[in-house]
Amino acid sequence: MDLQSHQAIPERLLLGPGPSNCPPEVLRAMGAPVLGYMDPAYLAIMDETCALLRGVFGTDNEVTFPVSGTGSAGMEAALVNVIEPEDRVVVASAGFFSQRMAEIARRAGAEVTLAEAPWGSAVDPAAVEAALRATRARVLCCVHMETSTGVLQPLEPLAALARRYEALFVVDTVASLGGVDVGVDRVGIDVCYSGSQKCLSAPPGLAPVTVGPRALEAVARRRRPVSSWYLDVALLKGYWTGAARSYHHTGPCSMVYALREALRVVHQEGLPARYLRHRQNAAALAAGLGVLGLSFLPGEDVRSPTLLVPRVPEGVDEGRVRRRLLDEYSIEIAGGLGELRGKVWRIGLMGHSSQARNVLFLLGALGHILREEGHRCDPGAGIRAAADVYRRGDGARV
Ligand SMILES: *Cc1c(COP(=O)(O)O)cnc(C)c1O
Repeated sequence: MDLQSHQAIPERLLLGPGPSNCPPEVLRAMGAPVLGYMDPAYLAIMDETCALLRGVFGTDNEVTFPVSGTGSAGMEAALVNVIEPEDRVVVASAGFFSQRMAEIARRAGAEVTLAEAPWGSAVDPAAVEAALRATRARVLCCVHMETSTGVLQPLEPLAALARRYEALFVVDTVASLGGVDVGVDRVGIDVCYSGSQKCLSAPPGLAPVTVGPRALEAVARRRRPVSSWYLDVALLKGYWTGAARSYHHTGPCSMVYALREALRVVHQEGLPARYLRHRQNAAALAAGLGVLGLSFLPGEDVRSPTLLVPRVPEGVDEGRVRRRLLDEYSIEIAGGLGELRGKVWRIGLMGHSSQARNVLFLLGALGHILREEGHRCDPGAGIRAAADVYRRGDGARV
């Protein structure tokens, strides 16, 4: 066997829908000594991680901790704890990840009703209300930032409907937490989950989850135990919170060190400053892509500052452009998922990756490649348009 050393792993600029680049101190944190899962020093690090997570979620929920696994493990944990077989569930659906929520809910035995909108739109609260009225569902699910379309779903109207129809409100914030204000308690979200590797900029492998009092009551009233032992919130709570701290599974301590450090970086920057940075960089990138002649899938009013989704121009080979960005500039962006495959690019500016120099570098590289691939544009115009946005400093809108 001729194995290469880890030194040979290339350094990429990660501008896809996640993972994002990690700050160097986050990667360094992972090199700290491994600790046992009951070591008091590790328990203290767990407590700090939960406290920092409450801050970024905007919640006082005691049950707030990272589940061991990626964002999808958070999705599964959120759903299997509140759903019992034959429960009626409404999923606000306008993209790939809401479809995944629906699939997990069905596997948990739920009767799922979709309140749908075309990909590239937000879901209309009127459609959600109609579905809730018709089904009297126990649970309403939605994706805050739909990473397949670049749409940021307004949460307040759906939260109000969940209250009115007495449904639990479960929200996916995998691609928004840390880049856009979520406000779990202010909005009225009952169960919320995220992922470590998107706007929080830790490596992939942990899924922050928070569970509010209404959801905990529903879990306590379950007729049957949660079908997943590993993701049972009541069991996880015994390890993550309270005084007793009973063993559940071996803590992935190196990942928790990284997440704690990433959250420390988030709070050091300050949440308002961080959200403004995401909006400004997205506005600059949107201006640059616009003058290169690209149009966007989502309407301006629902565009997320964490991920832009431009359409691939007529006659351009979308896979070739992505491949050239990777080979020639070491920049990763992504193509379309599901029904958007081959039709759009997905360009993320998440967490540590959301920086002016990355925006300018990408616009330079993309302008150059697009021109060589037969798209008529002035390759330097994107950089100039983005630089104008930075100079004006008014990038509050994407
Ligand atoms: C990335 C993502 C997920 C899945 O997360 P994994 O870490 O890939 O399991 C779920 N929902 C949304 C909105 C995402 O962007």
